[in-house]
Amino acid sequence: GSLLAATGLHKAYGPTPALVGADFSVHPGEVVAVMGPSGSGKSTLLHCLAGIVRPDAGTVRYGARTLSELSDGERSALRRGEFGFVFQFGQLVPELTCVENVALPLRLSGVRRKDAEARALEWMERLEVADVRGRRPGEVSGGQGQRTAVARALVTGPRVIFADEPTGALDSLNGERVMQLLTEAARDTRAAVVLVTHEARVAAYSDREVIVRDGRARDMAGVA
Ligand code: ADP
Ligand code: ADP
Repeated sequence: GSLLAATGLHKAYGPTPALVGADFSVHPGEVVAVMGPSGSGKSTLLHCLAGIVRPDAGTVRYGARTLSELSDGERSALRRGEFGFVFQFGQLVPELTCVENVALPLRLSGVRRKDAEARALEWMERLEVADVRGRRPGEVSGGQGQRTAVARALVTGPRVIFADEPTGALDSLNGERVMQLLTEAARDTRAAVVLVTHEARVAAYSDREVIVRDGRARDMAGVA
């Protein structure tokens, strides 16, 4: 069955409807691209799926759990423990070195520095950024920063990776490399990926495309 599934999501910001009955599901190990024009509701859908935005109506189920039935604390624990996030601009902490950034989610869950940084370095090797481990984010290229951000998203072993325009700030060569490494790592670890993008070249790395238009999501698998 599906790992994460949304049914009938509605969300409005004041008078502005963002989602009007959106359905979505993703299986373990599956990469789903969420596409559609600007303002169609893609980010709102991703934020509802991740438990960051509370929908006005509809349900989000993660495994046997329904997000709206969890307490705020349980939802944050779920996000920290089972979800990984990659954004358009890596959002690395500028004061920390790259390896400290990757180790941070582990440090926050109580892993000792030495162990956290050893695990961080393994992921940095895999993402081909081990050589910049001692530099700060301001001292690395856009592609290196974004691969560092992907390593940080993967270091806790998430079951779902949410990626919102992860290549949006990169040139096409760096963007393709990030997508290759991200999708390979996700397939190896059987993590599901929810990938918001408006670029067909990026969506080409997915197993399935969902088009969001005017707050509704349409699964392109059913439209052959
Ligand atoms: P997309 O990611 O496809 O660009 P969004 O989910 O960001 O779409 O936005 C959907 C609609 O909701 C748009 O009309 C947008 O202006 C509106 N919207 C999104 N977030 C907010 C917000 N925090 N406050 C007000 N309106 C918002
Ligand atoms: P409580 O969950 O304690 O009743 P609220 O309903 O006011 O508190 O929600 C607090 C925050 O929790 C919301 O701003 C939202 O970010 C998040 N949230 C609540 N319900 C959901 C939901 N069903 N899906 C995603 N996020 C939710």
